[in-house]
Amino acid sequence: MRFTRLRLNGFKSFVDPTDLVIADGLTGVVGPNGCGKSNLLEALRWVMGENRPKAMRGAGMEDVIFAGAASRSARNFAEVNLMIDNSDRLAPAGFNDSDSLEIVRRITRDAGSAYKVNTKDVRARDVSMLFADASTGAHSPALVRQGQISELINAKPKARRRILEEAAGISGLYQRRHEAELK
Ligand code: ATP
Ligand code: MG
Repeated sequence: MRFTRLRLNGFKSFVDPTDLVIADGLTGVVGPNGCGKSNLLEALRWVMGENRPKAMRGAGMEDVIFAGAASRSARNFAEVNLMIDNSDRLAPAGFNDSDSLEIVRRITRDAGSAYKVNTKDVRARDVSMLFADASTGAHSPALVRQGQISELINAKPKARRRILEEAAGISGLYQRRHEAELK
């Protein structure tokens, strides 16, 4: 599974639909302070199911919606769309019947988030499971936030273990066990 394109629409400072093409190899994003580099990374985490507003540097999840500027009024929804090349057919069962996957998350003011995979409505947990098995996702250690290295160095052993488990790709198993125990 490989990310090929991220599309933002009304997400934070990206008020107009914006495509970030993620080609093979290394993609660099450069620009002056405040131009939206971190917002791009946050959009990637968000479409994969991030649910902690704090991880989006907001007080509530609706803070990801474009809040307006001097010349533009605020938006009522934000949408992020992630295209994934699944030609290696490594997506988990239920998502593995096509060569590409399109994940969409949309949040509407006062109506919360909704997810789609290849135009089909899905639950948040389906999306998080899709990525957990591929050992990526909203909490993936492959996505390193500003300031996260020093957090890792200062982490308590339990928190550090969680990071290693996520990297090892076994956190999907924990989620399934947790759900099985609740049933
Ligand atoms: P740095 O180089 O300082 O790390 P950056 O390129 O990572 O900067 P970001 O933090 O991604 O920049 O972008 C911050 C910008 O996004 C600010 O100008 C902020 O006002 C804007 N922003 C954040 N949330 C919203 C929102 N909901 N609506 C409109 N603009 C927003
Ligand atoms: Mg930044």
